[in-house]
Amino acid sequence: MTRLDQLRESMQDEGFNTLVVHARNNVRYLSGFTGSNGTLVVSGADCILVTDARYAIQAPRELASAGIDGEVRLGKGEGLAEVLEAAASATSLGFEGAHVTWNQAKRLEDAFEGEVIATTGLVEALRERKDPDEIAAMRNAARIADTALGEVVPLIAAGNSERHIAAALDAAARAGGADGSAFETIVASGPNAARPHHRPSDRVVEDGDLVIIDFGALAQGYRSDMTRSFLIGGGTSQQREMLDAVRMAQQAGVDRSGPGVPVADVDAACREVLAAADLDEWFTHGTGHGVGLDIHEAPWVNARATATLAAGHVITVEPGVYIPEVGGVRWEDTIVITEEGSESLTNFPKSPQR
Ligand code: ZN
Ligand code: ZN
Repeated sequence: MTRLDQLRESMQDEGFNTLVVHARNNVRYLSGFTGSNGTLVVSGADCILVTDARYAIQAPRELASAGIDGEVRLGKGEGLAEVLEAAASATSLGFEGAHVTWNQAKRLEDAFEGEVIATTGLVEALRERKDPDEIAAMRNAARIADTALGEVVPLIAAGNSERHIAAALDAAARAGGADGSAFETIVASGPNAARPHHRPSDRVVEDGDLVIIDFGALAQGYRSDMTRSFLIGGGTSQQREMLDAVRMAQQAGVDRSGPGVPVADVDAACREVLAAADLDEWFTHGTGHGVGLDIHEAPWVNARATATLAAGHVITVEPGVYIPEVGGVRWEDTIVITEEGSESLTNFPKSPQR
């Protein structure tokens, strides 16, 4: 079944016959259109993309190469008039509640004659399980990231700033074929490594630092996500224990991952190892997240999440330990769930000593 037909099935289940798709990656997933301004109107029979004159040539090409039997209409501004026209035969109209502004929703409601329904996660649910082409794209993104880190590893040394290392990594990924970074690269050294989402600063790496590098590549619209931790110089036994314990926790999470496994069990597998090392109180975030067209997407991997893993899910497993004044350690891989278990897409060696 095509993605559009799958979506039509969920629309029917939800009780409306036309959906206005606003989220850029949802539009891309359904239609192949990669432009920055596009609204897709999907009904039982039709698929109409409303965009603007900048995409007059690109849009029909992209729809055709995605095998979409759809129509492109060029509108002005946000294209509300064209969207309403495309939805003229609808009796009930769904829109993506998580992706439109209050103003957009209000305008849609005021202008549409029938019932307007806010929906959540319809297209995102279809995106959770990746097809072989999507997995191939993510494998490629992960490979580019592995290679880039390999090239930059000599720079992860005392005397270089976080900013310098991050910029070199981003440039290496681009030169290696990435369209960009999957998200803003994190290089966190010394005390900064105790903050899970630190942004690269002018701090210069020093002997005895733990350094966390979390980054990914973007290629063909798909993303990879990987974290490696490094210890500069000999370090302390506490730092080495943190590195070992988190690595074992991460491996336990990966080993636990497979089809039919509740995501909460993957989270628990990581936490058990850290609890045995008396470090679990410093593991302050969830274990992972889905990755795909977005860097963070369903399924979420944490203690409260209720999803069950299935073949085609691509998730991260990324436990970390962050101790103020000491620093932090995180290991992360992007893995794909297979019929047999899982396979890691990110494969850079986990050898922290620098
Ligand atoms: Zn990451
Ligand atoms: Zn991540």
